[in-house]
Amino acid sequence: MLLFSCPNCGPRNETEFHYGGQAHVAYPEQPGELSDREWAEYLFYRKNTKGLFAERWVHSAGCRKWFNMVRDTVSYEIQAIYGMGEQPPEGLTAPPAAQAKSQPLAPAEASNTNASEGV
Ligand SMILES: [Zn+2]
Repeated sequence: MLLFSCPNCGPRNETEFHYGGQAHVAYPEQPGELSDREWAEYLFYRKNTKGLFAERWVHSAGCRKWFNMVRDTVSYEIQAIYGMGEQPPEGLTAPPAAQAKSQPLAPAEASNTNASEGV
């Protein structure tokens, strides 16, 4: 059993919480200018990090409020818990959204997508 320390309620059993996915995924500034592929990447593409990972959790059986957590995905050790809209403590992890913008699509991958649209 893990104990999660809810920022509002204090330590509680992990079964009171629900996972909300990767934290710090920024909403696009101009969503209307995105291609279908870029929009799909915003909606569905997430990191699958081995090690420290910033993620969202909700205390669904308690105060029902969301918060962020930096957790080691290998050891399940919780490194930090902080509020929504706050950044993780320095040195723990960089916001994944900033890393994702610098990774262009592979040309072969993009052409496969276009070929399947006509079917
Ligand atoms: Zn709570």
